[in-house]
Amino acid sequence: MVTRSYQCDTCKTVHNVQLPDDLASKHIQFPFAYFYLHGDAKDVLSTLYLDAELKVRGAETQKLDTGLDDIFSKGQMLSIVQNLMGEIERWRNDYEELKEKYDALNG
Ligand SMILES: [Zn+2]
Repeated sequence: MVTRSYQCDTCKTVHNVQLPDDLASKHIQFPFAYFYLHGDAKDVLSTLYLDAELKVRGAETQKLDTGLDDIFSKGQMLSIVQNLMGEIERWRNDYEELKEKYDALNG
């Protein structure tokens, strides 16, 4: 694990966050978005933009509406969003590869 810190605008403090060493290896494009829940009620969502060295290039924070509990737990929501972001990244990469092949054929 590596520890990174970032300024959280919602809590008005600096947080330390533990990241798996191999996190960057799962990504193709940088910086990538990493979602992180914290706060007493786990109701503050931080989106960290990480580069290949897992350095924090940007951070956005947002207080979540507690009404989400009715449908999904926040943890479930987070894992759904994280998976979707991964899928989008893969699709974008596939598209870029196809486009390169197409351009090579037509160039
Ligand atoms: Zn915070």
